[in-house]
Amino acid sequence: MATTPKKPAQNHVKKVPERHCVGCQGAFPKKSLLRVLRAPDGTISIDYTSKKSGRGAYICKKEACFKKARKSGALKRSLDCEISDEIYDELEHEIKYCEETESEDD
Ligand SMILES: [Zn+2]
Repeated sequence: MATTPKKPAQNHVKKVPERHCVGCQGAFPKKSLLRVLRAPDGTISIDYTSKKSGRGAYICKKEACFKKARKSGALKRSLDCEISDEIYDELEHEIKYCEETESEDD
């Protein structure tokens, strides 16, 4: 005899913050992107924690996006600063490493 009252469906969809990749221009959750940071003193580094303050540019952990961003200078434009080869090398290394590890569990 007891009828369970129907609860209204609750819309608890968590909004995932998305950022645009400088390579492919697509929007992706921050977590799946690498953040390149320009610190207030002008130093460029890869921000693995995503918590440092400064201006950030995001890129997919994909070699194709990296190549595109490097070739077009999108990273440079996005951060409004010259990017040294060392940073590009570090990025490339990191992206390749990510691609290798991520392709294992498909
Ligand atoms: Zn991309």
